Amino acid sequence: MASSHTVLMRLVASAYSIAQKAGTIVRRVIAEGDLGIVEKTSATDLQTEADRLVQMSICSSLARKFPKLTIIGEEDLPPEEEDLVVWVDPLDGTKEYTEGLLDNVTVLLGIAYEGKAIAGIINQPYYNYQAGPDPVLGRTIWGVLGLGAFGFQLKEVPGRKHIIRTTRSHSNKLVTDCISAMNPDDVLRVGGAGNKIIQLIEGKASAYVFASPGCKKWDTCAPKVILYAVGGKLTDIHGNALQYNKEVKHMNSAGFLATLRNYDYYVSRVPESVKNALIP
Ligand code: AMP
Ligand code: MG
Ligand code: MG
Repeated sequence: MASSHTVLMRLVASAYSIAQKAGTIVRRVIAEGDLGIVEKTSATDLQTEADRLVQMSICSSLARKFPKLTIIGEEDLPPEEEDLVVWVDPLDGTKEYTEGLLDNVTVLLGIAYEGKAIAGIINQPYYNYQAGPDPVLGRTIWGVLGLGAFGFQLKEVPGRKHIIRTTRSHSNKLVTDCISAMNPDDVLRVGGAGNKIIQLIEGKASAYVFASPGCKKWDTCAPKVILYAVGGKLTDIHGNALQYNKEVKHMNSAGFLATLRNYDYYVSRVPESVKNALIP
């Protein structure tokens, strides 16, 4: 795939600048003051004007530069064809965005080739927003399998402490049963899949556990690549790899488990009752 390789590198570079532009839109919508909130399936499944505008911005920019690409976005229309697929979450952590928990918000672009997640870009529009007067807002973290991950400082949780991150707005008994069985030293509930992955690679958490359906492929594609690029792992709750070809079901029905280190410990602790309730 010599020419595919060139296309991939062009795509990663474009996705980087597209994600940065997305971050400016996320900030502008808040600054203008009208979030235009719409409920999708429930009161915890929301869409804002930023979700809509970022989706349009990312998809139109990508489609203009890469007309044959398959783009699957959270807020969008059915895809076209091709082996190279971009999974787009225009705004991850919408619930938290509407509540002013702005550092929980990210823009996720995950790139898959023949079903395998191979590159990921995460823009965090409000990185630094509580850091003194006039901070430089936002950052972009990106990674390519085999190349590495960039835009942050890799850190691990000290010792072998079990510091677990999970959802704050989509929890249920399966999620809490699974976490209890992992004997956690600490559990913190924060919003956003992108945000929680950033916490794993920056040494604030050792595992991100979500033993429930609810997260979709656009939530896990970019995070998975960033994690693998630094030696981590992300699978469903049974330990199976997640696939990212265009035909795949969008829902991660069997939940997922993400770790930077000590994956085997966490996966060995998932209770049978939780596994039995989560069919892939
Ligand atoms: P959270 O950790 O709650 O922020 O969830 C991470 C991502 O998965 C977000 O994009 C959520 O919108 C999505 N998600 C998780 N659970 C659900 C659910 N029950 N309904 C809709 N979206 C969900
Ligand atoms: Mg999301
Ligand atoms: Mg979203």
